[in-house]
Amino acid sequence: MKATSIDTMKKHNFSAGPAVLPRTVIEQAAKATLNFNDSGLSILEMSHRGKDLVEVLENAMSLCKELLGLDDDYEVMFLTGGASSQFYMTAMNFLDENGKACIVDTGTWSSKAIKEIKRFGPLETLASSKDKNYSYIPKGYQVPSDASFLHITSNNTIYGTQHHEWPDTKVPLICDMSSDIFSRPIDKNKYGVIYAGAQKNMGPAGTTLVIVRKDMLGKVKREIPTMLDYNTHIQKKSAFNTWPVLPIYVSMLTMQWVKENGGVEGMQVRNQEKADLLYQELDSNPLFKGVAAKEDRSLMNITFLINDESLTEEFLRVTSEQGVSGIKGHRSVGGFRASTYNALEKQSVEVLVDIMKSFANKYG
Ligand SMILES: *Cc1c(COP(=O)(O)O)cnc(C)c1O
Repeated sequence: MKATSIDTMKKHNFSAGPAVLPRTVIEQAAKATLNFNDSGLSILEMSHRGKDLVEVLENAMSLCKELLGLDDDYEVMFLTGGASSQFYMTAMNFLDENGKACIVDTGTWSSKAIKEIKRFGPLETLASSKDKNYSYIPKGYQVPSDASFLHITSNNTIYGTQHHEWPDTKVPLICDMSSDIFSRPIDKNKYGVIYAGAQKNMGPAGTTLVIVRKDMLGKVKREIPTMLDYNTHIQKKSAFNTWPVLPIYVSMLTMQWVKENGGVEGMQVRNQEKADLLYQELDSNPLFKGVAAKEDRSLMNITFLINDESLTEEFLRVTSEQGVSGIKGHRSVGGFRASTYNALEKQSVEVLVDIMKSFANKYG
């Protein structure tokens, strides 16, 4: 590969995940794979028990707490197995046969969680937006006060909806924040558990962030295999077994970048600006329309359709010509999806909006 190829990498990356990361993070990661901290070794060939890497892991955990404003009531873990493993791990660790779990069904990821939680105890689906192909967030449902937890998907990556309000309940939320972690401040008092696969808004694929409030632990009686027991990973500070060094290192760099750029408050402002730009265009451009209900629109995944479907391929061709990558919609929604995660630059959204405008001039 020519030395210049990395400098000419300048696509507008709207991929839903794995997704765009800050340019400076990619550069630091590239450097670390050649020579980590001037050790003369690649980060790919070092012991995870060495001092420098232990520091990386500790730093990742403390940055996470700092960004989310979590105190010592919370334990932070970096695990493997993806957010998909958390669908059952949360149930295995927190739900008894004589307990009760609740969930709100807001799409593919909550449906998958439903399937897994049911294996461990009773589950009540309190509300669902399946009737309108998950284009809105259900509201106004009652949460039984004796429930062990309420599982919520905060941002629905596929459908482009996001919780901007939370149910009024004291039942601890178990929240899948895979696609909007670190995108905005959170009200930590609501959550018993937060989990997120790294590859949408935190880093590359290969690690999953899990945050557990300590009072959630030690309540179920079943035998839990060592690797699936949160206590194992809490006691061993996420180093019970060989941890995925590169994904956690890059996640740590990304969290540092978030911190340097105004923290989660700064990210929220940045994300709101980008989303406003694109939603305003969707609401005014006669060729396109947004998919999600207005009040539930996601700031992370913006789903939209083109009124004349026969123009789909042409739109993809023209956007691709301008360096726009990853906007083809998910098959369960169709159309397009622009993922505007933390690291996506506003300029990328401007490029997309300009293309939409000229498309409307030509075909509108
Ligand atoms: C991508 C995604 C998942 C699945 O994550 P994996 O890490 O691939 O298991 C779960 N929930 C949400 C909201 C997602 O966006």
